[in-house]
Amino acid sequence: MFLGHFGLALGAKRATPHVSLGVLFMAAQFADLLWPTLVLLGIERVEVAVGATVVTPLDFVSYPYSHSLLALVAWGLLFGVIYRVVVRSPGAAGIVLGLLVVSHWVLDVITHRPDMPLTPGGSTRLGFGLWNSMPGTLVAEFLIFFGGLVLYRRVTVARDRVGSIGFWLLVAFLLVIYAAAVLGPAPPDGRTVAWSDEAMWLLVVWGFWVDRHRAGAPR
Ligand SMILES: [Zn+2]
Repeated sequence: MFLGHFGLALGAKRATPHVSLGVLFMAAQFADLLWPTLVLLGIERVEVAVGATVVTPLDFVSYPYSHSLLALVAWGLLFGVIYRVVVRSPGAAGIVLGLLVVSHWVLDVITHRPDMPLTPGGSTRLGFGLWNSMPGTLVAEFLIFFGGLVLYRRVTVARDRVGSIGFWLLVAFLLVIYAAAVLGPAPPDGRTVAWSDEAMWLLVVWGFWVDRHRAGAPR
């Protein structure tokens, strides 16, 4: 899943209005931000297998530390605690962020083939394979993405042009890279996938930037 993760992050703004969209992106996409670096270090493995699913040609051979349930629960705890300590944020923000980290696993299990590990060392792998259906995948991705978008727009207002134009450019950019990933040619190999995935950090920075130019909407 791709857009859905960003949708959950956008929607989470409603529960935690004081948390920057950049932090929400980082939590919801923590698994996919960690993953390319682990692949490039040779710790996790992905291969390109054209026809693996209708939507993506990626074969996720092994990703126990970025994509197993147990690892993501641990990363979620760590993420929530570090946020609480660093930002000294009272209330539920740390919990929401921890849940967002774990939500990545849930959304990926829905779309992936049975390749999502439960524990780093175990052999149990889950996946409902929504990626075998292009219409099913698109409906799920767009429903969550646009649902989150509506929520985010309801609880924030642009303070200036960066807050409005910058925000819509971010939305457009997400849609364009998703379209390119789904409709474009298969990448040559796993390393290329990992290198281009590192660009995800740009979206985190973009989230921080835009969010600073938006304020809480008057109730
Ligand atoms: Zn993922």
